[in-house]
Amino acid sequence: MIEEQTSKDISQNRHASSSGQLSLEHLEVVSAWGGASRSASYVFRPTTEDQLHDLMLLAAKSGRSIGLRGGGNSYGDAALNSENILLDMRRMNRILEWNPVSGVIKLEPGVTISQLWQYVLEDGWWPPVVTGTSMTTIGGCAAMNVHGKNAYQAGPIGDHILEFELMLPSGESILCSREENSDLFFAAIGGFGMLGIFTSVTMQLKRVYSGLLDVQTETQPDLASMFDYFEAYVDYSDYIVGWIDSFSKGSALGRGDVHRANYLGSGADLAPSQTMRLENQHLTPNMFNVMPRSIIWIFMRPFMNNLGTSLINMAKYQAGRLGGSKQLRQPHAAFHFLLDYVPDWKNSYGPGGLIQYQPFIPKETARDAFADILRLCQRRGMPNYLTVFKRHRPDDFLMTHGLDGYSLAMDFRITDERRRRVAALARELDEIVLAAGGRFYFAKDSTLRPEVAQAYLGQETIDQFKAMKKRNDPDNLLQTDLWRRVFT
Ligand SMILES: Cc1cc2nc3c(=O)[nH]c(=O)nc-3n(C[C@H](O)[C@H](O)[C@H](O)COP(=O)(O)OP(=O)(O)OC[C@H]3O[C@@H](n4cnc5c(N)ncnc54)[C@H](O)[C@@H]3O)c2cc1C
Repeated sequence: MIEEQTSKDISQNRHASSSGQLSLEHLEVVSAWGGASRSASYVFRPTTEDQLHDLMLLAAKSGRSIGLRGGGNSYGDAALNSENILLDMRRMNRILEWNPVSGVIKLEPGVTISQLWQYVLEDGWWPPVVTGTSMTTIGGCAAMNVHGKNAYQAGPIGDHILEFELMLPSGESILCSREENSDLFFAAIGGFGMLGIFTSVTMQLKRVYSGLLDVQTETQPDLASMFDYFEAYVDYSDYIVGWIDSFSKGSALGRGDVHRANYLGSGADLAPSQTMRLENQHLTPNMFNVMPRSIIWIFMRPFMNNLGTSLINMAKYQAGRLGGSKQLRQPHAAFHFLLDYVPDWKNSYGPGGLIQYQPFIPKETARDAFADILRLCQRRGMPNYLTVFKRHRPDDFLMTHGLDGYSLAMDFRITDERRRRVAALARELDEIVLAAGGRFYFAKDSTLRPEVAQAYLGQETIDQFKAMKKRNDPDNLLQTDLWRRVFT
């Protein structure tokens, strides 16, 4: 007990003097994942709930707000808290309980998707929803209610969370599930860290019978074919994702390729214990057995302009078309986390970084709206450099981005010259999205304005969320740059 007290005191002293003065040694410059915005914050890396509580007291004493940060993979300012306190949650990363028979797992919030799948796969389980990078944490994923390439079928990650513990700024810990404190359950998931801190998350995982997926790739000659393909295959595919050549024009507008994948049923893999072994999941560190993947971004950089990317896109599309439809078996990790195998690929965008604009649009209006969006970007001389097309379904979470429709994730390079032009373009795109009944996604956002958030969420939803925040965080201790930009 004495020992415990002593280490707690030491940890408090490390954080600040008793006057609540924050020590400058904690001041760090923190960047949005896309690198287009960064800010200085007092960063702390707690490992226990006691420390979390101490830090909340410290914040109150020092008159600063607290922002939460998981893996820092949100493209914009969702995990930044300029000139205030930022809690990096990655050291709270213990697996608390695991039942390999039922597939139920209880995790601390800093456990990453990478840590999770590597822990459970050899027992025959896989996370039911994963993001395009495995560097995300469970806390960050729950706070944004992330989706995967199976969003149309599995829904967002919140649909697989059984319960979580949420620490409020008062230090009180609340257990939330669909039965207990259900209003908080449906608001904190997707509540971008504004209602409390997830200190544990319990999830149901997905049973798998192989370490491999059956994957099929095909090109699509235009946007209409892309939509038709998705509509034809969603009922028969466990995952589908499309890539669009945003430079294609005229009758080829929206051309691209599609990857779809299915789990292998029981018995389809003759050596599942081998394919599920971790060493058989990863891609080799070298491309073509020669070039280290870690330097690929250096070769990509000269092509990160309109001419270079249009040439790459054309070559990628034509190679896919000439090669024809392909069928292959691919490890789960290689299928889901391809981008992780090109370390630092975002550096190819240059020092200004990138932002992503990802609208979600109902299926009835998405065909016309996506065509308008692609054409508008071209007219403004700013086709985006990476465009990903996904199908989604609605869900029950208060601040959801999900709907029965499609999303188009578009990466825009930011330079001094382009920054204002991209912001102006985003305003024009917002008009198209709102007119089509669309929604936006905080994890990817850098440009949303309060009036646009109000238009798509509705005043009633915003009022409900703010009332819940007032009840759980009466002193408005939990804040981020995103919260201040869009909601205050
Ligand atoms: C290459 C790449 C691919 C991606 N692919 C996808 C994709 O396929 N699907 C998708 O949905 N998203 C995707 N994303 C976005 C990413 O999944 C989300 O931004 C996710 O929230 C990031 O998790 P994180 O741990 O990095 O959280 P951060 O970005 O650090 O934080 C996200 C939010 O969570 C809050 N938060 C963090 N920890 C806690 C906690 N313990 N309690 C309460 N709140 C907390 C933060 O305040 C912040 O609001 C991708 C991002 C990248 C960079």
